[in-house]
Amino acid sequence: MVFPKPASESDLVFHSNFASPYGGDSLPRFDMPENSMSKESAYQNIHDELQLDGIPKLNLASFVTTAMEEECNKLIMESINKNYVDMDEYPVTTELHNRCVNMIGRLFNAPIGENDDAIGVGTVGSSEAIMLAGLAFKKRWQNKRKAQGKPFDKPNIVTGANVQVCWEKFARYFEVELKEVKVREGYYVMDPAKAVDMVDENTICVAAILGSTYNGEFEDVKLLNDLLLEKNKQTGWDTAIHVDAASGGFIAPFLYPELEWDFRLPLVKSINVSGHKYGLVYAGIGWVLWRTKEDLPEELVFHINYLGADQPTFTLNFSKGSSQIIAQYYQLIRLGKEGYQSVMEKCRDNAMVLKEGLEKIGCFNILSKDNGVPVVAFSLKDTNLCNEYELSEKLRRYGWIVPAYPMPPAAQHINVLRVVIRAEFSRTLAEHLVHDIINVLNELEKHPPKHTTKVNNDIKEERAVDDSAGIKRTALDAQREIISQEANKRQKILAA
Ligand SMILES: *Cc1c(COP(=O)(O)O)cnc(C)c1O
Repeated sequence: MVFPKPASESDLVFHSNFASPYGGDSLPRFDMPENSMSKESAYQNIHDELQLDGIPKLNLASFVTTAMEEECNKLIMESINKNYVDMDEYPVTTELHNRCVNMIGRLFNAPIGENDDAIGVGTVGSSEAIMLAGLAFKKRWQNKRKAQGKPFDKPNIVTGANVQVCWEKFARYFEVELKEVKVREGYYVMDPAKAVDMVDENTICVAAILGSTYNGEFEDVKLLNDLLLEKNKQTGWDTAIHVDAASGGFIAPFLYPELEWDFRLPLVKSINVSGHKYGLVYAGIGWVLWRTKEDLPEELVFHINYLGADQPTFTLNFSKGSSQIIAQYYQLIRLGKEGYQSVMEKCRDNAMVLKEGLEKIGCFNILSKDNGVPVVAFSLKDTNLCNEYELSEKLRRYGWIVPAYPMPPAAQHINVLRVVIRAEFSRTLAEHLVHDIINVLNELEKHPPKHTTKVNNDIKEERAVDDSAGIKRTALDAQREIISQEANKRQKILAA
């Protein structure tokens, strides 16, 4: 996204690498250049500038896959010129998509016969998947209300305050009120009992998260299912559940096969999962599955006659690449259940190495759970020396990208650092990270930051009162406060 900002001279031009054989004149930054340049020169300029980006493998903020095998990279390049929507022209790609939907549907225990097809679709990511699932619930609810002659203009959806930003997007874009169950200190996910309390006749569904973005914790979908069944029995409603398994959908079936969170629970009508998170594919693929055909209102499915063939589609966009779908198919057959299980076990083991390393240092509280998505979320026991934001900043100098952010509403006075353990994060890297955290803490002991102050808004208030010790509010503090507020807004985006 491009935001307007004041321009300086160097904002308007950028200077190519004059010392290279491909060097040349300065180029306008926001204007298309008048003349062409050689392909070598174009490549070198862009390649060089991109060196300033972070290193994807050290980006511990993200769940999204940053490494795949050479063979899969090759398949990706071989299919980079195929538009997925040309199903008639690329029927095999469509077939691979359908195989993925079926494999994932069965992995989530969808009630499908041996010869039946699972109901689902590949999307750009979980965000698109969630928009589609949300729309299906909204439509279903509206249809029912219309049939009963009741008002259908005030739909709401119940979630925890820890939802990922895409649910807020869904709510705003599609005009559904988002009713959030607040979290509290020590309990950072949706409380199923409180969620069920918030359900009313206008509730289109309750969305549970399998793997909270804040600390990786699984919400108790089984308990939610049971409480909601009871409420439905009492009220005569039929409120159902969507599970946002963006990060946990490929974890739970392999690490916790006994855990009931999926279509084994009768009220779970749809599930989304990000193929590009623990599905182990590069950015750009997600999946949404429905329990049965009846759970996807027919009027949302478009039957288009596209270049001669009838194609049912249910997506928000039209054209898109085929590579990620093919890459997902590669991972599913290359790894099989055995491979996925082994990858997830290694992630969990490496999360434990990091967690235990941090515990040994002695100055952190661990806010993630051992059972859940393999992330390690931790906060400082004592922020006198430095706070989580400063620690994050210092780690950046070692190349590590470890985000710091406040917990969701009602617990936002707690700041955490979060490391996502992906498949490509090795035990060696985990050990290096612990080592560098110790280095940073030692450095801070020797040279304490000048303006140490807790940054979060609520705590800020307290400090302002009891800080007669003489920490003055400097311009830097004010700036930190703004950064912290921005971090607050941004965290949900970062948490993707
Ligand atoms: C990542 C994430 C999303 C958004 O998914 P994308 O695949 O990035 O679009 C939604 N919900 C949760 C719980 C997530 O972790």
